[in-house]
Amino acid sequence: MKVMKFGGTSVGSPERMRDVARIIQDGDQNIVVLSALSGTTNALVELSTYLYDKEFSKFKSRLLELRKHYENFISNIYEKEESKEEAREMVQAHFDYIDAFSKDMFTIYEERAILAQGELMSTAFFHIFCKENGINSKLLPALDFMRTNSDSEPDDYFIWVNLDRMLKEHAGHDIYITQGYICRNAFGEIDNLKRGGSDYTASLIGAAVEVDEIQIWTDIDGMHNNDPRIVDNTKPIDHLSFDEAAELAYFGAKILHPSSVRPAQMKNIPVRLKNTMEPSAGGTLISSESISRTIKAVAAKDGITAIKIRSGRMLMAYGFLRSVFEVFELYRTPIDMITTSEVAVSLTIDDVSHLDKIIKSLEKFGTVEVDNNLSIVCVVGDFISEKSGFASAIMHALRDIPLRMVSYGGSKNNVSVLINESDKQNALQMLNDELFEA
Ligand code: ADP
Ligand code: ASP
Ligand code: MG
Repeated sequence: MKVMKFGGTSVGSPERMRDVARIIQDGDQNIVVLSALSGTTNALVELSTYLYDKEFSKFKSRLLELRKHYENFISNIYEKEESKEEAREMVQAHFDYIDAFSKDMFTIYEERAILAQGELMSTAFFHIFCKENGINSKLLPALDFMRTNSDSEPDDYFIWVNLDRMLKEHAGHDIYITQGYICRNAFGEIDNLKRGGSDYTASLIGAAVEVDEIQIWTDIDGMHNNDPRIVDNTKPIDHLSFDEAAELAYFGAKILHPSSVRPAQMKNIPVRLKNTMEPSAGGTLISSESISRTIKAVAAKDGITAIKIRSGRMLMAYGFLRSVFEVFELYRTPIDMITTSEVAVSLTIDDVSHLDKIIKSLEKFGTVEVDNNLSIVCVVGDFISEKSGFASAIMHALRDIPLRMVSYGGSKNNVSVLINESDKQNALQMLNDELFEA
């Protein structure tokens, strides 16, 4: 059994959805995880913003626009009138549900319910398509098994028990279809795994069911060695280790949700990244093997804030770093990079929701400086300590870029630098030209 996840562009048009139906019929029993049709989640975010702002006429016209898009999709994907009718009724129910939120108070709970509608509709569409085409499929509602706990982390036991039960109850189907991204939280409310979360769904399901392989099908031929949206001449990478892929995903390679590698890694299940538009392209295989001892790829994460705490007594005072870290623990704010000197410690965060309180607490230990609009550029590879030259090649490529922090040696897979966001494009292109093109 495999998990096959298809992203928004892979199901974004009737032609693509037909391609998906061809790809999944490979003779294996597969669990197919789908995202919302491309553009839908952004549209639902926009609709929610109008509801927060009580801009009801903008809400209505955007909803109508989205509705037309869905009706068009229905007209073009199904052959049989009964399939069209079934899809129209389904879409009508979801749009009525969304529309009803304009009549009542709107909070984060209602927003989460709206955001879930995209995946609910795409999977229903696909299921109707499968039925029309004689594909032996079963729709498994993600809201019945995908759940997070009170720390907003996946509840692995709940996921496993319920998915296992549902698969046994509905044994004998070739294809199981389910929604990516959406889940219930510890209170049983509709929630989600954050933007891009369908990759995470696929990995969590793959780990729970212990499948043979997790495939992530998207609109590009695998993980590239740099961000193809902003860098010229990027190339697909054949193979990455779990650790390398996890670092790239965490540090901004949008092709994978930041948390999506770990569940697969924990169960040692290979992850394959494939292109729906070009299924014969090799793609990228992510596994426990670490193949070549070299620089593999570069990624960047924006919206980073750096905090520097300067204290005359830092080095002498053991327990200083612990006190600093306790502040971040108290406010549940993860730290990404850290560097220390004898008189100061600098660290970075990307979640600034508790920044004011964090600064207040840190001021007890010394003077605190805050910088924002920074990017972490992360160079990933297999940097074994016996081999020299990696750091100098990276620093040489970045010779014209002001560096705010440098982190080397934290893991053997990652060298990170902190720069101004405005220097990011330049830094990524320079790294590409010198590390991969030379
Ligand atoms: P999906 O909707 O299928 O989940 P995403 O848009 O989330 O697709 O991810 C695929 C996109 O990620 C690609 O189209 C590409 O623009 C972007 N991307 C960013 N960094 C990388 C990278 N290093 N390698 C491949 N794609 C990347
Ligand atoms: N539809 C969701 C999003 O756009 C989840 C996903 O596509 O992975 O973020
Ligand atoms: Mg994605």
